[in-house]
Amino acid sequence: MPRAAAWTRATPPIGPGGPPTVEQVQTGATLSSVTQLDLRTLRIRSGEQFRDTRQVHVDPLTLAGQRYVAVPREPEADVVVTRTRSGFVLELSLDARLHGPCFRCLDDAALTLPLRGREYHSSDAPEADELRSQYVSDDRLDLSAWARDLLALALPDKILCRDECAGLCPVCGKSLNAEPHEHAEAGDDPRWEALAELRERL
Ligand SMILES: [Zn+2]
Ligand SMILES: [Zn+2]
Repeated sequence: MPRAAAWTRATPPIGPGGPPTVEQVQTGATLSSVTQLDLRTLRIRSGEQFRDTRQVHVDPLTLAGQRYVAVPREPEADVVVTRTRSGFVLELSLDARLHGPCFRCLDDAALTLPLRGREYHSSDAPEADELRSQYVSDDRLDLSAWARDLLALALPDKILCRDECAGLCPVCGKSLNAEPHEHAEAGDDPRWEALAELRERL
């Protein structure tokens, strides 16, 4: 089972005028291979917050030589940007559904991973300073790179079609889910195992 990422909702900084006002700013979302948010266009002052729902492009991942694709390719994500005196608190939240082959039987497997990220970005800090978010460059927040990293961190050790997947028969290569069976004699012969391993790689 995927581990749930630790996630605490940001407590918006309370400005001198009381609780922050929430300002909705719509900027044209462009669907390209990289989804970015231009922080300069948000027009929020210290203590104010920007919230929006964006479709974030997530690139496919390659794991153990297999390709895993987010479906949809551009899942909806909640983006919250809170302006502080010296920078931004950035939050990204989405549920990514990942499709690809089962590690054991190579059938289709799908899993939904809740992705929750929180970053601080100081706009005053010098380049490469640790107070700068690695996902912000030229005041643009790269939502795609962030989502992809969160996805990579949230992945379980094994992607399985189901927890109890029986996998492929090491002797004949057939699915043990569809056809549970044993090979009484050949199973002990190491030459058969070598052949089965070879078959798995083909
Ligand atoms: Zn399986
Ligand atoms: Zn078999």
